[in-house]
Amino acid sequence: MSDYLHSGISLYLDKLIDWDTYFRLKKGDDADVQSEQEALGTVLETMAEICSNLEAQCREEWDLAPTLVDGKVIRPARIERAVSEFREAGLVGLGVEEEYGGFGMPSFICNIFLEMMSRADAGLMTIMGLQTGVAEDIEQFGSKELCERYLPGFTTGEYEGAMDLTEAQAGSDLGGIVTKATERDGKIFLNGQKIFITNGNAEIHMVLARDADNFDETKGSTKGLSLYLCPMVLPDGSENPMYVERLEHKLGIHGSPTAVMQYDDAEAFLVGVKGDGLKAMLELMNNARLGVASQGLGIAEAALTEAINYSRERKQFGFPIGDQPLMKSMLARMTLQVEGSRALLYRSTGLSDRTRAQEVKLAREGESMPAAEKEALMAVIKRNKIRVRLLTPLVKYLCSECCDSVTRQAIQVHGGIGFMAESTVGKLHLDGIITTIYEGTSEIQVSFALKEIGKGGLHIVFEEIEAELSAMTDEPRKALAERVRQGIASINEASGALLKDFNYALFSARHLSDTAICVIVSAELLKQAGESPERMDLAAGWIEWKMPELEMHAQRIREGAGTRIEQFESIIKLA
Ligand SMILES: Cc1cc2nc3c(=O)[nH]c(=O)nc-3n(C[C@H](O)[C@H](O)[C@H](O)COP(=O)(O)OP(=O)(O)OC[C@H]3O[C@@H](n4cnc5c(N)ncnc54)[C@H](O)[C@@H]3O)c2cc1C
Repeated sequence: MSDYLHSGISLYLDKLIDWDTYFRLKKGDDADVQSEQEALGTVLETMAEICSNLEAQCREEWDLAPTLVDGKVIRPARIERAVSEFREAGLVGLGVEEEYGGFGMPSFICNIFLEMMSRADAGLMTIMGLQTGVAEDIEQFGSKELCERYLPGFTTGEYEGAMDLTEAQAGSDLGGIVTKATERDGKIFLNGQKIFITNGNAEIHMVLARDADNFDETKGSTKGLSLYLCPMVLPDGSENPMYVERLEHKLGIHGSPTAVMQYDDAEAFLVGVKGDGLKAMLELMNNARLGVASQGLGIAEAALTEAINYSRERKQFGFPIGDQPLMKSMLARMTLQVEGSRALLYRSTGLSDRTRAQEVKLAREGESMPAAEKEALMAVIKRNKIRVRLLTPLVKYLCSECCDSVTRQAIQVHGGIGFMAESTVGKLHLDGIITTIYEGTSEIQVSFALKEIGKGGLHIVFEEIEAELSAMTDEPRKALAERVRQGIASINEASGALLKDFNYALFSARHLSDTAICVIVSAELLKQAGESPERMDLAAGWIEWKMPELEMHAQRIREGAGTRIEQFESIIKLA
């Protein structure tokens, strides 16, 4: 079996995800859970085999990038080869429901696919990742007509997708969007320019644009933005006036086309409710954030493997460098970062899937359910959605920062050879940086997390964690769980200092996110250790490393030192 399908994945597939509950919620009480679970295992094996086989060519041709020839994007051979292998194996449109020809595959599986793909070629992942995200957004918010017209193309691989938000003046702040949507003779036309659009050559673009009828009143805010599906070719077969104007040259993810898109009266179709486009786009962005988290994890995993292999081969002072205590410390921390990120990511995708399956059950059986049962199910869904809204920015932040840090340390493990232009870990580092920027920068993720914490999200997440920790009555998990509970108490106490001053809260958003992550990951790693005792050192190592950090962050927050902002302003002035 390929090492792409390792024990970190099979532990969740075989033990930690409750597939019985998932499939019964999704398909009803007579679901054949065993066959469904076996099918997921087979799909993962196929994914692992194809992705690991692609790795060598992807590394070799890493710097070959798409070109723009007569307005058409020509992708490098390795990307075309990979995309057609995925198509031939039926690995496209996986998340799309069976009604439209997809597999209705759980987000947990779709994201592991993205993780494996990124381990081979991070640029390739952006192409396939958008396919699923865009299709699912059309499915959730598009009209029946749009679903029937476009979704089957996503499941055959005929269509690829792009999401077009960013404009020169509107990056993190989408309120700055000025691409205009004008209604004429019952049709909608887009005019404007989008920049940094991944997969700009895609057949289907999801464009966030400002409606002309309240353009001036809403300008500068996210009100008045609607989401439009804009196809390169219109239903009557004519070409839509939308163009890839330029392709960017980048530091990494070279296989991914990043385009400037021009819309010159391009016809588009409304998705979801007019003026409520951000809501539909946020759904797509949340999917994409989990995708980028998976991308970060996959790249970090690749760098860690390279670093460990090198540390065993390279000898200095008569011994492999991996035998040096300082190297052991670095490699162990890199492993903890990767496994900690995996723990939060799989917990998040597992929770997303369970919540989605609960919604499917509600839609299927809600009418005939006893009122009390229906009310209870709705309450569970509501609480789970709050948890997902908090975990998503946290996991995107954690996995992408882990990627940046682990790939950098992998260069350090390689010494001088790591700094050479052809170094694999150097390439992985350059690929990894973008994960902390697109789909919302790390600063934006921790600000989103703070917003969710302010609305009570952390309390609801901790409620579930506390219950899990209390159930750990075996040693050494019991003692470790107790330490984590003390961490929760410290966070609860410290976060009071944030209520007084919003600016200070924003200033502390990273500290607060780090403390929340520390607790959630600790609980998840302890759960892993409960099923797989060889992971006990991993859980203990994380807790012993991170709990003192939690106390330090909590202490910084508790100080409530609003004056530190002024102090920092004064420091910056010295630069
Ligand atoms: C390779 C690549 C592919 C991309 N693909 C797509 C795509 O497919 N579709 C798409 O629409 N966009 C895409 N983007 C755009 C990407 O999402 C934006 O670059 C990103 O959201 C940041 O926006 P910006 O570049 O304008 O930076 P800015 O928003 O100008 O941010 C600059 C810095 O200021 C910080 N900052 C900004 N606001 C705040 C705040 N409120 N609090 C704290 N710090 C803040 C940021 O964290 C960052 O460090 C892509 C970008 C790249 C580079």
